[in-house]
Amino acid sequence: MAWSNAVHGYWCNAKTYPTTCRWCGAEVFFFSCDCGCKVFFDSLGPPWPIHECSPEHRYAQAESILGKEGLARAMSRFMMTPLNWGPESGVEERYSQQVIQRKRQPAPPRPRLVRQDPAPGRTVAAVGRLREVAPRIDVHQVLAVPADSVIGFQLLGTLAQEDHARITLHTGDLSKEDGQSYTCLVPHRLLRTAGAAHGDQVFFSLHALDIPGVRCVWVCDAIEGL
Ligand SMILES: [Zn+2]
Ligand SMILES: [Zn+2]
Repeated sequence: MAWSNAVHGYWCNAKTYPTTCRWCGAEVFFFSCDCGCKVFFDSLGPPWPIHECSPEHRYAQAESILGKEGLARAMSRFMMTPLNWGPESGVEERYSQQVIQRKRQPAPPRPRLVRQDPAPGRTVAAVGRLREVAPRIDVHQVLAVPADSVIGFQLLGTLAQEDHARITLHTGDLSKEDGQSYTCLVPHRLLRTAGAAHGDQVFFSLHALDIPGVRCVWVCDAIEGL
């Protein structure tokens, strides 16, 4: 889908987040859309230059921070490597103008936050701040599914197999006027590895898990501190 429709924007729910490069500290912009594009740009607008962080920066700094094992893990993720983005890819002109304009406006002291509800099939990859953290929650209680029933166990699937926390992430997508708020369940294991604390800026990806007859919830697949 990404390769045949090379121009991304409103139609594919494109999102653009101002952030900093975790390796060199430069101001960059993280772009993602429903086609699966994940790419960091140096600046907004044509020609949408990809942030090509120097390999020395990436490897030397990453290894000093993460250690050899951590580096291998980080490199296998999408972090600063474009995904689904190639020489033929582009961004809609109207979308392009919108994000440039919004970047120029001073950020409001208290941006209005709009809660983003999960819907079956929805996924999101974004940069945001970690807000509320409930470190240990009872998934069965939260979703009102009895813990001692086989049906309950099957309904919750992987959610029932490990400990989860509940977190809220706030993002500021430049293509929208308001901030967005996502509340999700996150496996303890992921939160621990990320080492992220309240107020930290993080990369995250979520998918909507539809539990038949119960409800749809956001579940975090990846979270990593900047
Ligand atoms: Zn797209
Ligand atoms: Zn960089």
